[in-house]
Amino acid sequence: MASRSQIIESIDALSHCLQRLSRSGLRGFDCLPDSLAKLATWGSTPHRRFETLTDIRMALGDCQRCQLARHRRNIVFGCGSPTAKLVFVGEGPGFDEDRQAEPFVGPAGQLLTKIIGAINLTRDQVYISNIVKCRPPNNRNPRPDEIQTCFPFLKRQFDAIQPLFICALGSIAAQTLLNTPEPISKLRGRFCDYRGIRLLPTYHPAYLLRNGEKKREVWEDMKMLMKEYPYET
Ligand code: URA
Repeated sequence: MASRSQIIESIDALSHCLQRLSRSGLRGFDCLPDSLAKLATWGSTPHRRFETLTDIRMALGDCQRCQLARHRRNIVFGCGSPTAKLVFVGEGPGFDEDRQAEPFVGPAGQLLTKIIGAINLTRDQVYISNIVKCRPPNNRNPRPDEIQTCFPFLKRQFDAIQPLFICALGSIAAQTLLNTPEPISKLRGRFCDYRGIRLLPTYHPAYLLRNGEKKREVWEDMKMLMKEYPYET
């Protein structure tokens, strides 16, 4: 027989799935707001059920869980819509992001803003975050233990936002989310699954600044995303 926690897990998964389908505009089964609200009250603990981005930010606090805390100026939690259908995930904050406490505001961020504009969205309509929330010194790659410490908070952000799509920017984001060592050149160009969310890996904007010829491939990826994204008409 299934344990109580297994039943709660299943209800959670069902509830997330119905809400995602409802937000993607699918019809033909009962996903009315009333029904979804009823389902949301079944089984699970209030902690898991009602966690918001603000709750998660508060749980993070003045995080000292890994050594990145020693070098940072600011925690870069994430920004954008708390109900975004699309979340962009980068690697970790750089110099400008650490100063301004906002992801993707430096040169790579300006390119990301253009990419978001090119798919007819704004930064306010999507959500932007990173695998780690503190700047690695000298912009080195985040280390596995730092990723392991920080990643659970990003997972909780996904649970709060419940996006339909995640766009993983660069190898660190794609490899972490997909739990694979495959290079980004092999991962990009097709949708993958991340816990029921459609995940599209693509090149990191900082890589595009150094390798302009790769912009064409990112544009191909963005066109795939645009075909599937439920734009409001
Ligand atoms: N690069 C990243 O991966 N994230 C940022 O927020 C900025 C640059």
